Amino acid sequence: MHLRISMGRRRCFSFYNSPLFFIIQFSLFIACISVVDGESNLNKPSFTLINRDLYHTSGALMEEIEALVHRHSDKLSIETITSKNKGYQSEITVVTYCRNRKEIDDRSKFRILLSFGQHGRELITSELALRLLSILSEEEFLPNVDPTRLNNTLDKFVIKVIPMENLNGRKVVEAGDLCERRNGRGVDLNRNWSVDWGKKEKDYDPYEENPGTAPFSEPETQTMRKLSISFEPHIWVNVHSGMEALFMPYDHKNTTPDGLPSQKMRLMLEKLNHLHLEDRCLVGSGGGSVGYLAHGTATDYMYDIARVPIALTFEIYGDGTASSKDCFKMFNPIDITTFNRVLNDWSAAFFAMFSMGANQVDEFHLKTSASNSDKWVSIDDYLNGYLMERRNRYGKKMEVLELGMQEIRTYFRLFLLSSVLLMFMFCSRISKSSRPIVSAITL
Ligand SMILES: [Zn+2]
Repeated sequence: MHLRISMGRRRCFSFYNSPLFFIIQFSLFIACISVVDGESNLNKPSFTLINRDLYHTSGALMEEIEALVHRHSDKLSIETITSKNKGYQSEITVVTYCRNRKEIDDRSKFRILLSFGQHGRELITSELALRLLSILSEEEFLPNVDPTRLNNTLDKFVIKVIPMENLNGRKVVEAGDLCERRNGRGVDLNRNWSVDWGKKEKDYDPYEENPGTAPFSEPETQTMRKLSISFEPHIWVNVHSGMEALFMPYDHKNTTPDGLPSQKMRLMLEKLNHLHLEDRCLVGSGGGSVGYLAHGTATDYMYDIARVPIALTFEIYGDGTASSKDCFKMFNPIDITTFNRVLNDWSAAFFAMFSMGANQVDEFHLKTSASNSDKWVSIDDYLNGYLMERRNRYGKKMEVLELGMQEIRTYFRLFLLSSVLLMFMFCSRISKSSRPIVSAITL
């Protein structure tokens, strides 16, 4: 279905670009205008084009964010993480907010990790990232919120924002494939994580949900995993569009986790829905509410493996009446009133959630996270986090580390194995030589 749409459009654009067919160009132009205006026409394509009066291009959006960071270097910093795998390269920009930049590494601060644009076609999510950063830098303000009070609250936060996790996929969308959600080589970045990875439902569609060749096969997912391990967020939000929902774990089964923290998480979401989103949103587990189970998602990993106490997926907009071929309309507001309403409502919901979440992550969670004592991380995760921190300190490039990762993991495992064997041999010799003494004491 998607192939047919994109082939039709590509042919349309080649005519449009041809200098030899002026008349055809002109009639096509008229057809495109009539689509934007929503008028019926026999020749019109059956989809809405990106409204450039409302939406930035990916390049313009990132430039605007860079300029914003530059103007507020006391609070904001920016880094771009490049990662490569088999000739495919990803680039993820991370903006860090901390009111006193020197305190960025202060582990007593409350840490929030937000990702936008994980799916290429969900352009509205990256516009929300820009809006949140503008509010954090105090160039824009939340209605009905006292800025001084907000600043006092924000003093205790470090917030990392990924405005466009899937830049390569976004570029595919901007080139005309408006239904593309996967990354630049056709993998769904929200099916490439390790929790219940690769399981396929009956209605599995590779054009939508291709999980990749293995968990973390994609450079984008590898970068995000390393970030979650080194940053240890208290709150994670994966921001999507396609419907209006506030989802908590799990995505791969239709239940929510047991226990009081999970119940509190749901209550917080219900409160946000009521106070800021006019009760429009579905609230509950992703798997239980969305109508299908999703395997290998980021939020399930953040909750189950990275042990992020509040791990959420927000779906900020959807047009259920749009045709399934009309992806831009289905996933993004197309008029200015709805566009502004979505950004205003969700900005307010996010800032309310920061405060509510900070209150909710009680002593138990903070202690758990800070001491790391009962947080079991696999050797791979530990090494990834360790190397990530070294990279930050010495400024070495990610690619160099990526090349050596497999080897380092293998050596580390061999080292552990040989140490265990040596210890075993040593202990068995001691126990043999000391046996008479032990029996003497017993008697
Ligand atoms: Zn999505």
